[in-house]
Amino acid sequence: MSKYIFVTGGVTSSLGKGIIAASLAKLLQSRGLKVTIQKFDPYINVDPGTLNPYEHGECFVTDDGAETDLDLGHYERFLNIPTSQANNVTTGRIYQTVINKEREGDYLGKTVQVVPHITDEIKRRMMLLGESGDFDIVITELGGTVGDIESLPFVEAVRQIQWELPEEDCIVVHLTLIPYLKAAKELKTKPTQHSVRLLSQEGVHPNIIVCRTEHPLNEDLKRKIALFCNVKPEAVIEAIDAGTIYEVPLKMFEEGLDVIVLKKLHINGYAAPDLVKWNSFLDKLNHSEKTVNIGLIGKYVELQDAYKSILEAFVHAGAVNLCKVNVVNVHSEFITEDNVAEQLSGLDALLVAPGFGIRGVEGKIEAVKFARENKLPFFGICLGMQMAVIEFARNVIGFTDAHSTEMDTETTHPVIALMEEQKSVTSKGGTMRLGAYQCELAPNSLAHKIYETNEISERHRHRWEFNNQYLNDYINNGMVPSGKNIKEDLVEIIEIKDHPFFIGVQYHPELKSTVENPHPIFVHFVKAAIEHAEKKQKS
Ligand code: GLN
Repeated sequence: MSKYIFVTGGVTSSLGKGIIAASLAKLLQSRGLKVTIQKFDPYINVDPGTLNPYEHGECFVTDDGAETDLDLGHYERFLNIPTSQANNVTTGRIYQTVINKEREGDYLGKTVQVVPHITDEIKRRMMLLGESGDFDIVITELGGTVGDIESLPFVEAVRQIQWELPEEDCIVVHLTLIPYLKAAKELKTKPTQHSVRLLSQEGVHPNIIVCRTEHPLNEDLKRKIALFCNVKPEAVIEAIDAGTIYEVPLKMFEEGLDVIVLKKLHINGYAAPDLVKWNSFLDKLNHSEKTVNIGLIGKYVELQDAYKSILEAFVHAGAVNLCKVNVVNVHSEFITEDNVAEQLSGLDALLVAPGFGIRGVEGKIEAVKFARENKLPFFGICLGMQMAVIEFARNVIGFTDAHSTEMDTETTHPVIALMEEQKSVTSKGGTMRLGAYQCELAPNSLAHKIYETNEISERHRHRWEFNNQYLNDYINNGMVPSGKNIKEDLVEIIEIKDHPFFIGVQYHPELKSTVENPHPIFVHFVKAAIEHAEKKQKS
């Protein structure tokens, strides 16, 4: 039987609920408990797959092909275990299920209502992972902020679960903000008091209050929060701003968050936390003396969350190499043939990012050309790989109008073309090639050297694909397919032989990089950037 922890947020959004939930999960996991985290989002989209990155940041894809919230990326990076479709549920998905059931006649003529039908479906999904028997503890993060109209049914579902379960099987952790008023030189507790009161009015009383703050909370302040929010002082946890998100588990450990949680859940005889791997990663991160500048060429670069997993994969790979990766954002829309050298000067490597649509693609193609010709380490992900294929066709093979049919349906050389099974697809939600697929690596290739194995599994999210009609033109000119999906005869990896490091992958390796398992392509790419920087220094 699993125990349940719900994490709610108050006062404002963007407090880092996902990081607090993941940090708590990490600490409990490090004590030998089996933990998973799920996120319930109150918006009406069935999943975030159709959302623009400007709206919602990156879309994280799981092995089973679910398009999910980027917080699931944090869960996987912290816990080093995969999540699945069941770990992310939205209001849209809840309503879709209930409405489908209504159409099937499952409610036997009853009036279908928010309470109990929507709340029952929320509860059913909140308990699903717990009922699998695979976990001791299920942490559920509620998206949104307490008091939002749209989160009311979720809070009601938590209230009912808390009422139904024994007290020691379900607790609520509320994350709030303690703002600092500069003029008064004071930390203010009132917004927290209001937010806890709001939650209580909705019937849920938090057991633990985690306070985001820019300044330390003294004992008096903690007592005050405890008194007015009706919890014991040890249940008031300070969550002070950390240098990196990876320090948060340690800060929560110092504050005793895991111990108070275990106490409230009546879990005894737990082991001391084993954070050896985590600490060794942090140690490397903090003792990285070298720095490399890696250009991230994308069209959403002004929004950090759009490339979250790529940025985190660089943090993991940097630590392995004892090197700080300084990611230099370069907006692909503003790169032209005339300014490319100037825009990309001083960089030790280039990563061309994933993306959709025509905006900024010519800039990406210019960037690939620059990397190829100047022997700058290059790494293309998904659309980035497709741009490398187009660049090679145009400038090496001689197909000057080569393109992807995503951008130009009239091109006489569609080197990137829509996959056969995509041609009849009209619906946008959940219809791409999604999730994990096997890929076989060619012996003696860069990919093989990086992965040190013959077969890999990586996650996909795309509709277009390398067009095999042109395969021989590529091979004859020096671009080789070094990774293939044999079953479907799809090229998944391309590389150039006569180059120190040039690789493009149709899948998203960044989604599988974790603190304990940094992704090997990122690790080798950073290494290639270091070598490039050292060579530059010597010459
Ligand atoms: N737009 C391209 C496709 O659908 C690439 C997608 C991506 O970069 N994730 O194939």
